[in-house]
Amino acid sequence: MNTFRLPTTVCFDQNALDKLCEYKNVNAVIFTDPFMVKSGVAQRIAEKLDGCNSVSIFGDVKPDPPIELVVQGLDFLLKANADIVVALGGGSSIDAAKAVLLMAKRSGKKQDIKLVAIPTTSGTGSEVTMFSVITDREAGVKYPLVHEDLQPDVAILDPELVRTAPASITADTGFDVITHALEAYISTAANDFSDALAEKALELAFEFLPLACKDGNNIEARDKMHKASCLAGMSFNIVSLGVNHGIAHALGAKFHIPHGRANAMLLPHVMRHNADLPAGFSASPDAYTTAAKKLAKIAGRIGIKTTNIKHSVNALCDHILALEHTCGIPATLAEAKVSKEDYLSQKSAIIKSALNDACTATNPRKMTSEGVEEILSHIAKY
Ligand code: NAD
Repeated sequence: MNTFRLPTTVCFDQNALDKLCEYKNVNAVIFTDPFMVKSGVAQRIAEKLDGCNSVSIFGDVKPDPPIELVVQGLDFLLKANADIVVALGGGSSIDAAKAVLLMAKRSGKKQDIKLVAIPTTSGTGSEVTMFSVITDREAGVKYPLVHEDLQPDVAILDPELVRTAPASITADTGFDVITHALEAYISTAANDFSDALAEKALELAFEFLPLACKDGNNIEARDKMHKASCLAGMSFNIVSLGVNHGIAHALGAKFHIPHGRANAMLLPHVMRHNADLPAGFSASPDAYTTAAKKLAKIAGRIGIKTTNIKHSVNALCDHILALEHTCGIPATLAEAKVSKEDYLSQKSAIIKSALNDACTATNPRKMTSEGVEEILSHIAKY
């Protein structure tokens, strides 16, 4: 038996933030990052919570939240005696809040706390997932925690909050969406429900990401990317991801490359690797892997017209590379400011970490050290 459940209530379109006005006579804590505090957004959200007894702001979340931050956040949450936590920000703020809540519940110190996630990037889909990625800085490893209790109760999608994201963050996070949807689509656990969510996410992201990167004030593009991010999150929440994320987590932990950027750099190479195309030309679908056939289907859905699976997969990967170039994504580790010495000194640890990463388990092609090394060779060009 297979099951499928979406426990998060998603509020979207006009006045979605008004959901916050429904919380009365409770203590609220807002988990967010320094940008959201400085730009006044955290304060605006606090004002929407005016039915609450108290509202406090924990504004210290850093990108790739480390274990120490989660411990600090737990202390803050317990002192504020929070009944609801509002996670406001990118994946880092949402993931930090999720991990804090899980710790509070597990320690028995605070059981019944509601989590409201308000994403300000269109990327991680964390507002609807049971994932939280926490970094062990000392060990240089990013751990994806996976548990049903990590799923937010409510997600609020307001594209106005993403308007301030600069082009580089828009591009990084936008390719995170595309990576989530593609990895979910060819995951070994993929099913008709996850496929439907991934297909719509990809259709929206391929059309609207270039527009959002070009003009951050294009509110239609922001809105569609915000929805694409949420749909992709729902999809991978059901069927998990693949080796793209396994390697990206390792690169992020070792070299502090923003998560979406690391995913983007790897994506065309991982997709080609996973498609495992035959050397020669074959017109018969039987000559191709399931992953190749599904990637060819996506190529068709986004308007790439070819009659052969091999050509379609290659055209899709080339399309992704070209789009990344237009959006300013670095093509190599050198362009991402990782030196050859640093890369070589960490290479075997990266391969080991990628193979052990929880996301790699559902990759459609069985991964080996050689396979990860082959993928890395495309971005490790010095
Ligand atoms: P982020 O939360 O790390 O934020 C990156 C930067 O963008 C920060 O400096 C932040 O202040 C800034 N920022 C955010 N919103 C902004 C806005 N509207 N305007 C201007 N600046 C803004 O970035 P992210 O890519 O959203 O999250 C990455 C984290 O999420 C990583 O740790 C990654 O591993 C994790 N992740 C989690 C999941 C999940 O399901 N839980 C999925 C994918 C990634």
